[in-house]
Amino acid sequence: MKRGHVPVRTCKGCGQKRLATEMARLVLSEGALVEDWRKCLPGRGVYCCRNDQCRLRLEKNKKGLKRAFRL
Ligand SMILES: [Zn+2]
Repeated sequence: MKRGHVPVRTCKGCGQKRLATEMARLVLSEGALVEDWRKCLPGRGVYCCRNDQCRLRLEKNKKGLKRAFRL
């Protein structure tokens, strides 16, 4: 990996690509969506822009979440 390379992730809310450092990582914990602030929670995660609109859209998109988490 090149030095200074920043990973890019796709937001599950709006579908736009952003730098992973600018996004929130969300994981499913006991059936609830929680933000992985410390980037240390296990399991599959989804990425979402740090804004309420994307977060809400993501939370409403149950089908998409189920697919993302392979439920
Ligand atoms: Zn977004």
